[in-house]
Amino acid sequence: MSALKEQIAAAVNRVADELESLSHRIHDNPELGYQEFKAAGWLTEFLAGQGFKVERGVGGVETAFRATIETGDGPTIAILCEYDALPAIGHACGHNVIATAGVGAGAGLAAIRDQLPKGRIHVIGTPAEEGGGGKLRLIRGGVFRDVDAAMMVHGWDRWVPHQDLLGIVRLGFEFTGKAAHAAADPWDGINAVDAVIQTFNNVSMLRQQVRPDARIHGIVTSGGAAPNIIPEFAAATFYVRSASLDYLGELQKRVVACAEGAARATGCSLKVVESDTTYEPMRRNQALADAFRANMQRLGLQESPEMKDRLGSSDVGNVSQVLPTIQPYVRIAPEGTPWHSRAFAEAAVSPLAREGMLAAAKVMAMTTLDLLTEPGLLTRAQQEFRTIR
Ligand SMILES: [Zn+2]
Ligand SMILES: [Zn+2]
Repeated sequence: MSALKEQIAAAVNRVADELESLSHRIHDNPELGYQEFKAAGWLTEFLAGQGFKVERGVGGVETAFRATIETGDGPTIAILCEYDALPAIGHACGHNVIATAGVGAGAGLAAIRDQLPKGRIHVIGTPAEEGGGGKLRLIRGGVFRDVDAAMMVHGWDRWVPHQDLLGIVRLGFEFTGKAAHAAADPWDGINAVDAVIQTFNNVSMLRQQVRPDARIHGIVTSGGAAPNIIPEFAAATFYVRSASLDYLGELQKRVVACAEGAARATGCSLKVVESDTTYEPMRRNQALADAFRANMQRLGLQESPEMKDRLGSSDVGNVSQVLPTIQPYVRIAPEGTPWHSRAFAEAAVSPLAREGMLAAAKVMAMTTLDLLTEPGLLTRAQQEFRTIR
């Protein structure tokens, strides 16, 4: 291993206990999206202590931050942190580990600051991944405008340098009909619940004709007041997912058409509520994933094959659509532990999580160093980004 990489690993080891206690403190104080004031405070305090210049509330998001080390004119590499928790089950997605791996990578790079080639390193705090779309707001707020490549890690039960993520569109359908007595004057009514049921039936038929990576799933959010009133209002929410952005757009239109058809059939009027937090699919960047993999191997970490059928969604997908980005998976839980479970929340503070977090911090710092020292690597990552879709 190169001398600088040895120094990175030693620097991360020196702050290992501090990083672990920071990870546990975030875990013990779970905060929902856009309310991560404590976590953002502790993480920026740590980074400032490592010599980073810290900006809080970047991109117009109060609990976002950007910490920077600059050694002159050169490429800008970003390491991303997440630190939001889930309602009711706390850090069952292990974002405490993502956060401390990110700032740990920062510490590893800060230790070799004087020997770094010219460039800029950002550690960016990205709030509200669990549905709030924090990274979308940071993209719109210009936080990624000057970034040449970005990376983060996510906890899992295995190490995988690249996993696809499904894009997701959230659609609300609100049907308005006309109330009437359901026995005495049903012919005077227009039944909004029928429109919801017909939408589900239309979607069920559509489901047979979609590609295997597509997922369409919905719930009824409003379904009438009493059986003796023809429902004048009813509503449903659908999530539509696909691994291809183009196909996601196509599917979205077809699911909206299912609701439009139902409205026409029942005589209801329809309002389509489109959420502005579409999570886009993850774009692969082989050059970056390979660089990450090589540093994993340097540390003797065992890689598992990519899984094609257990796919989630994340707003890091949106970042991967605007610049070369990777989100490798890191082993922090025993094999078979599902995400968003109480078992995963427990694993996120286990010795395995400490091990995964420290290794991830080192691998990210080493990969960042590679990007700054080998201009060819960044060029390959950017060429791939521009040419392969
Ligand atoms: Zn999650
Ligand atoms: Zn997560």
